[in-house]
Formats: sequence, C-alpha cells, structure tokens
Amino acid sequence: MIINSFSNEDFSYIKENLKVINSEIAEAAIQSGRNPEDIRLMAVTKTVPCDKINFAINECGVNLIGENKVQEFLSKKDDLCLNGVEKHLIGHLQTNKVKKIISQVDMIQSVDSLNLANVISKEAQKLGKTINILLEINVGNEESKTGFDKGVLAQSLEQISNLEFVCVKGLMTIPPVCNNEKELEKYFQVMNEYYNELKNSKYKNFDFQILSMGMSGDYTQAIRFGSNLVRVGSAIFGARKYK
Ligand SMILES: *Cc1c(COP(=O)(O)O)cnc(C)c1O
Repeated sequence: MIINSFSNEDFSYIKENLKVINSEIAEAAIQSGRNPEDIRLMAVTKTVPCDKINFAINECGVNLIGENKVQEFLSKKDDLCLNGVEKHLIGHLQTNKVKKIISQVDMIQSVDSLNLANVISKEAQKLGKTINILLEINVGNEESKTGFDKGVLAQSLEQISNLEFVCVKGLMTIPPVCNNEKELEKYFQVMNEYYNELKNSKYKNFDFQILSMGMSGDYTQAIRFGSNLVRVGSAIFGARKYK
C-alpha cells in the first residue's frame, strides 16, 4: 500500500478554473465589442491559504489580487510571491487602519465615505505619496451595505475633488442579490452610466480608468455592461472556508 500522507495538495483545479474564467471573460468582451485584454481579472484571496495563492500567481499568470481585511493581508503578505503582482484592498477599511495599509497596497477599491477619503489623503501626504482609490457605490441603496449612495456622493464630489493626495481611478460596486437577470442588469447599467458621467467630469484628481464590478456569479453580465475589472474568488479557489 502506498501511503501518501505528505504529498503536495493538487491545485490543478485552480488552473482549470482560471482557464474557463479567462475564456468566458474573452467571450463576453468580444460580444460587447471590446478587446479581451482591456478586462482585468482580480483573484480575490480572502480566506485562501498562501500556497494556493502562490500557485495561482506562479503557475497560472494571476497578476492582480484583492484582499478584504487589513490584518489578514498583512499577516499573509510575507509568504506570498508578490513580485509583479498588483494588490488591492476591496473590503471596508476602518480609518484607524489607513496608516497601516496605504504603503502596502496599490489601490484601495473600497472607499465608502468622505471621511475615509479624507483620512487616506492626510496619511498619504505624510508619506509624500498619492494613493489610487475607487469610490464604492451602494447601487441598491441597501442599508446593510457600505458604499456611497449616489445622492450622498453627489454632495461629496466637490470635497473629494479637493483632496490632493488621492487619485480617483473609478468606481466599484457590489450589486444587491437579485432574483432575476433583468434586475441585476439594471444595476450594472446604472453603474455604467454613472461611471461615464463622472469620467467626463472635470474634477482635477479624477482619472477614471476602472469600473470594478462582477464577481463569481455575474462577471460575464458585468462585462457586458462595461466592467473592466472583475473580482473573482470562489470560482477560482472553490468555496471559502471561514474559520
Ligand atoms: C469576496 C468578494 C468578492 C469575490 O466573491 P466571489 O463571489 O467569491 O467571487 C468580490 N468582491 C468583494 C468586494 C468581495 O468581498
């Protein structure tokens, strides 16, 4: 009998999953008249162990990862092969953790209040840096979710545009759970229109390039409605195991 108790785990399913996802991304891009290369795939790595993440980076060409929690990212980062890999924070950020994270990531996608944007700009100034951010939109106006309501954001735009040490690269959203495709597409459409409206605005620290929407269950629809960065976790790594 062969006892194989210490062999490396087989991660080949991650490669297979990524192959399927990349081809679906390409198909959705082409269907909507865009170049597949204009759509970026983020591997969402919350709760995923470092050896799996490193496999995705080293063996499957993943070059953009997203983590939700400051503490989790900081404790994993020294064990990750991050050369040439972009790191984004995508989860709610408490203002008292801003200082810890801004020098460690390339973008904060989850800027969900004027106050947070303010604190990021202040801490960035101390570092002599400009931090790239996305504004997170609560497109369904859900009470349970973080993010700007469109109305609140409209009132905050002027102030955000005066923050010298943040550069607003675009928008991010997590739409409400929808019972049907039409409803979901309506939210993606609203985001698409809002993105284009702000892209054409003249705010001096706005440099719109990223519309971040679409997750494991809906990335192809999101791409059809203009998303150019999809954030995919469980479809790559399998269902998350929360401790
Ligand atoms: C967890 C998470 C994702 C990925 O979710 P999946 O459904 O596993 O693809 C994307 N975006 C954010 C902000 C997340 O927290």
